[in-house]
Amino acid sequence: MRATGSLHLGHYHGVLKNWVRLQHEYECFFFVADWHGLTTEYENPQKIEQHAWDLVIDWLAAGVNPGSATLFIQSQVPEHAELHLLLSMMTPLSWLERVPTYKDQQEKLREKDLSTYGFLGYPLLQSADILAYRAGQVPVGADQVAHVELTREVARRFNHLYGREPGFEEAVEAAIKKMGKKQAKIYVGHRRQYQEKGDETALETARALVDSQQNITLGDKERLLGDLEGGGKVILPEPQALLTPASKMPGLDGQKMSKSYGNFISMREEPAEVDSKIRRMPTDPARVRRTDAGNPDNCPVWQFHMVYSDEPTRQWVREGCTSAGIGCLDCKKPIIEAVQEELEPIRKRAEEHLRNPDLVRTIVAEGCEEAREAARATLEEVRASMGLNY
Ligand code: SF4
Repeated sequence: MRATGSLHLGHYHGVLKNWVRLQHEYECFFFVADWHGLTTEYENPQKIEQHAWDLVIDWLAAGVNPGSATLFIQSQVPEHAELHLLLSMMTPLSWLERVPTYKDQQEKLREKDLSTYGFLGYPLLQSADILAYRAGQVPVGADQVAHVELTREVARRFNHLYGREPGFEEAVEAAIKKMGKKQAKIYVGHRRQYQEKGDETALETARALVDSQQNITLGDKERLLGDLEGGGKVILPEPQALLTPASKMPGLDGQKMSKSYGNFISMREEPAEVDSKIRRMPTDPARVRRTDAGNPDNCPVWQFHMVYSDEPTRQWVREGCTSAGIGCLDCKKPIIEAVQEELEPIRKRAEEHLRNPDLVRTIVAEGCEEAREAARATLEEVRASMGLNY
């Protein structure tokens, strides 16, 4: 998660609840992406440290447990930077330029000069973040799937270039020749289609072609299949995107909850502030007077009921709103109660950690050590495969 300061209910429902669940199902690494923060905040790096601690405190407050998951800060594990640099040598510029968020973000953040080397390279830094741990799955929202895709391509290219034993290529070429001219040409075409464009159908066709060969030995077949998927040895496994279910949590005005829209309730919001923010929420504009009937579908409060209320309460809202039987303040009451109830234990845990910064630092220091150990092992193999272990 990028270091952008303390978190709100949108992050809690969209990301953290999912992390809390995942930490019991997988071996998880969660980190503060402080270097990623620098790609857009390079003019104000002083803010990043406070943002980093705020993030960790909010994770702990949400129930992320350092006993189940590894929590660390990216810049404390320099292996991320080394892997990023090594991968940058073999990643075509065009792969980075075509990542959809590159132009998108430049457009959105026009007030900042993002025509920097670091900003163009940040998806590759993400790839290094993932590949340093040889991660099997990466929990992401739909907008980040392209980044995981890029990581897969980078890993494939790396394995293709450096995952080979001496003499491997000659053996593969000899096996292809044994297929006969026509079949060999088809095979090479499909191989190129898969390795350069990531076309999975081409991969399947090439695999089937290898399987159907009568004139080549089993060893040749294994070599060909290994070659197809990037070489003799997989040094950096290709990760999969683990799609996070889309969060239904809207902002106070019905748009996406975001700090920049000012429509958020922070995870550590004081009870009085929660109360006041929900009371001031806009409602269906058709309900000018208490006696005007409304339509929940035109009201952001209804979207909160979809997150927080059970079926009987929703029924009560629908009937009461459309018949003007209830007022908007009545309608907001169960939401205020539900949000207060949700935030109370979170706020308490956050306060405990705020009172004990040494404990937070120890948790992060231990996480960094664990992360470094895992990343160090990957980098040793990466260096060796590239002949850089002198
Ligand atoms: Fe919105 Fe509830 Fe008021 Fe209807 S009664 S307009 S759903 S706040």
